Parts: sequence; structure tokens; C-alpha cells
Amino acid sequence: MNPTPRFEFASATRIIFGAGALREISAIARSFGMCALVVTGRSIDRAQLLLDMLESAGLLPSVFPIEGEPAIDSIVRGVRCAKEKRCDLVIGFGGGSAVDAGKAIAALMTNDGDVLDYLEVIGRGRTLINPPAPFIAIPTTAGTGAEVTRNAVLASPEHRVKVSLRSPLMLPRVALVDPELTYNLPPAITASTGLDALTQLIEPYVSCRANPLTDAICTEGIRRAARSLRHAFDNGADKAAREDMALASLFGGLALANAGLGAVHGFAASIGGMFPAPHGAVCAALLPHVMQANLIALHERDPRAEAVRRYVEVARLLTGSERAGAAEGIAWIGHLCAHLQIQPLRRHGIAAGDFSALIGKAANASSMKANPIQLTSQEMHEILERAF
Ligand SMILES: [Zn+2]
Repeated sequence: MNPTPRFEFASATRIIFGAGALREISAIARSFGMCALVVTGRSIDRAQLLLDMLESAGLLPSVFPIEGEPAIDSIVRGVRCAKEKRCDLVIGFGGGSAVDAGKAIAALMTNDGDVLDYLEVIGRGRTLINPPAPFIAIPTTAGTGAEVTRNAVLASPEHRVKVSLRSPLMLPRVALVDPELTYNLPPAITASTGLDALTQLIEPYVSCRANPLTDAICTEGIRRAARSLRHAFDNGADKAAREDMALASLFGGLALANAGLGAVHGFAASIGGMFPAPHGAVCAALLPHVMQANLIALHERDPRAEAVRRYVEVARLLTGSERAGAAEGIAWIGHLCAHLQIQPLRRHGIAAGDFSALIGKAANASSMKANPIQLTSQEMHEILERAF
């Protein structure tokens, strides 16, 4: 066994998990102030229960809905709105987009200048100086784990890329995870977000930045997602399955924020910038093919790598069989994707002619650096062809 390398682990200041935990929101919000900007997804109706709770406790919520995945200009408008209303805190309530948008708005309420000043890749990558306004993250899907990550993924339609605003200061003050909020998710969203969660547990587990703490989180998360994603899809009212998936999503966020991701997310970043495809659906379409390509590349160029053993462990966790080999794990994921009616990439508007551009952008994506082996452009091309 190799000695454990130095590692660090950071997360939201406080994580509250439990069915019905939303009922604690007023007391938590009040500890930060009375005026809250509530960042939600498109349908404000879903946030009505939250707004009623805040109002009946005497708080003053202002709703700021985000259309789809957050673009830079909607963050600018959100910051302006929060400043005009003199908000003391921000609550992100929704899927990964609403949570990330809230995170970015809270960060830019207290740091002057243009959003681009602080963005990676397309901007000047300046570091945030001031702590963000207090931010509470409440996920209503079970997938992204954005409630415990330190970055907000923002779209720049003009550059056709998605980039991150990132700072350790952006870790939420409170992550409130209530599985009850996911009971009404439609099956298609359960499928794509759930497979995103599973990807965010497998990629950090085989990542070159994995550490013993993220390993423990990943193995437990993979076990729960493996036993429950199918049930949550087949029967959304299955409370035990919903609870498992809410935990799997939270664990995926904890793992990715501290151990990085891999090629699935490298591709998802480049595809998400060029096509309006939902992140989870793209990850789901890629996952088995990236696992396959990584394993072949590892066997060819680095057969003694720790990641080879880890893919076997993933297969055992997924199938529940101590005798499973890595190939059975990949087959298991393929069957799950078929059951969950995951669509291939071409259904999201991608054409074969886009492959070169996608590969070029994916090779530069930050997630690609944590992949257990560096893939050649030929291998990346094969992944897209198989997922196509
Ligand atoms: Zn993801």
C-alpha cells in the first residue's frame, strides 16, 4: 500500500439532512437577517411553500427566478436586484442551476467589478476578496450536489462555453437537504439527475485526486444509488429510494468538490457550452462509454494503476456481487441507462461534424485533468461515437 498523500477536505459550514428539514428554514434564515433573495428555477410555484414559511416567520423574501442554466447576464441582474432590495442573505432553491445562480449572486453582492473579472477561462480569473453574502442552498433535485461545492457553473452564450466562478469562500453557509422536496420529480428528471449523481460518485472514486475521506463517501454513495435509482424512477413515491438518492447526490457533491471528476464531466462541460442539453442527460449518455475507454487505456498503458482495482470495486458495489469484474460494472450501467430511457447524444442536437470542436474544448476542461489516465484524441473520438 502506498502512503496516504496529503489531502484537504472542505464543505458547506453546516449540512442539515432529513425528510421535513425544510421546516427549519425560517430559524436558520433569520440568523443571517430578515431580507432574503430567493433564487428559484423557472416555476416559482414550487417555491411557494418556502416563501410561505419565510413570510409567516416575519422574513421578507424577494423571488428571483432563473431561466434554465444560469447565464452571466442573469447573475448580473440578480446582484442588482439583491442590492436594490438590500438583501441580507441569499437562498438558492431548486436544481443545480438555481443553487449555482444563488451561489454566484451571493459572491458578487460583496465583490465589486464585472463578473468576467472573476471567471475562469474566458475571464481574468481574479480571486474573490470578500466573503459572499450568507448563502443557504436547498436542492430540490437529487443530482448535482451543488449545495456543497465551491463553484457556480455559468454559461456564456457569446463564447459558447460554460465556465466556473470558483472560490473556497463560495462554499454555502448552510446546505439544507430535504428528500421530501424530490418526491414529485418526474421520472425523466429523476433519471438524468440520478445518473449525474452516480457519475459524480464514480469519477471522484477513480480520480487521480481521490483520498481516503472521499473514498469512504463515494463507496457509500455508489451503494445507495445502485440500490435505489431504479426504484426512484419506477415509483417516485418510494420514500426510502428518494432518501438514498438525496444522500447519493449530497455525497457526490462532497466527493467532487474535494477529489475532482473525470472525462464524463470534461465532455459534459464542452457539450453543455455548445448545445442546450441538460447536464445530467449528457453525463448519463457518456458514462458507460467513458468507463470502457478508461479501462482499455489503463490496461494498455498503465495496467498496474490503482484505478484498475477501483473499477473492479465499482463493479462490486453496483452489482452487489463480490465476484464481479470491471466489465460487469460497465454492463450494469448500460442496462440501467436503457431502463431509465437515456437518450444518445445525437438526440440533443449534436452532429458528428461537431466532434472535433467538442474534443478540443473537452481536452482543456478542468475535469479532464482528474481523469485516471490521459486519453488520446482518438480515444476521445471513440467515446463520442459510441455515445452518439
Ligand atoms: Zn455532473
